[in-house]
Amino acid sequence: MKNIKIFIFSYVILVCGLSFSITGKPSESNYIPQPWEVHVVMGIPTDNDNSDDYIITRDQYVLSYNQNKNVSNWACWNLNEDWFGDAPRHSGSFFRDNSLPDGFYRAKHNDYTNSGYERGHMVMSEQRTKNIEDNESTFILTNVFPQRADLNKGPWVKLEFYCNDLAIDQDKELYIIAGGVYDNDRKLKGKGKGKVTIPDSCYKIIVILNKGEGLADVDSNTQVIAVMMPNKKGIKKHKWQRYITTIDAVEYSTGYDFLTAVPVDVQEVLEEREFQE
Ligand code: MN
Ligand code: MN
Repeated sequence: MKNIKIFIFSYVILVCGLSFSITGKPSESNYIPQPWEVHVVMGIPTDNDNSDDYIITRDQYVLSYNQNKNVSNWACWNLNEDWFGDAPRHSGSFFRDNSLPDGFYRAKHNDYTNSGYERGHMVMSEQRTKNIEDNESTFILTNVFPQRADLNKGPWVKLEFYCNDLAIDQDKELYIIAGGVYDNDRKLKGKGKGKVTIPDSCYKIIVILNKGEGLADVDSNTQVIAVMMPNKKGIKKHKWQRYITTIDAVEYSTGYDFLTAVPVDVQEVLEEREFQE
C-alpha cells in the first residue's frame, strides 16, 4: 500500500509538472516548478504498461526504474554548458538507491564485480560536474546499467564526448534519453546473484536545440540523433555514427513512445529521419 501511495504521489507531481511544462502556466495557483522538470520537457517516455515504470525525479535527471528487471528503463536529462564545472569525478563505490520503495531490489556496487560487465552510466559523470552533489548523483546505481567495456569505452563514450562538444563548443541545448533493450532477460552473474538485467542493446536519443531553447522551439527542422548499440565485445573501435538509427526504430524496439510532448505531426517527421552531420 505504501508503494502504491508513493507511486500515486509521484504520478500526481509528475502530471502537475508536465501540465506546467506544456502550458507554461501553473496548474495550481501556488504551484512552484521543480528543478527536475527541465529534464522531461520533451515529454515523459510512456509505454502500454506503467506498472513497471517507477519514476524517480532528481534535480540532475529523471529515471524510470523497472522493479522487475532491477535496472532503469530509461533516463532523461537536459544538457548545456552550465552543467559542466570543476567538481572532481566521484571515486570509490557506486551508491545504492535508498529512495526506492520497500520491496524493490536495490542494486549494489558488488553486483557488478567480476560479472564481465561494467557499471555503465546512463547520465554521464562528466555531464554533471557543477558541484559534488551533481556528480555523485550519477553514481547512484539506478542511473547505471551493465555495459560491456567495449561498448562503454567504445562507441557509447564517443557519442557522450560528441554531446559534450555540442554543449560546450557549439552552445547547444540538448535533451537526452538513454536506456536499454532487454529482450533476452539475461542477468548479471557472479556476486550479483542474478538480479540485475543486462541490456542486449543500449540506445540514446538526443534533441539538439540552441542554448536556451525548449519545447516551443522544436519543429520539423530540429536535429535529432538516435542510436542503438549492441552490448557486446569487439566493437570498441567502432564509431558511434555506425549505430545511427531512427527514433521510430527505438520506439519499436523498446515499446516506448518518446518526445511525447512534441506535437504528433512534428514527432512523425523527426522520428523517421536519420541524423546527418
Ligand atoms: Mn560510461
Ligand atoms: Mn514519439
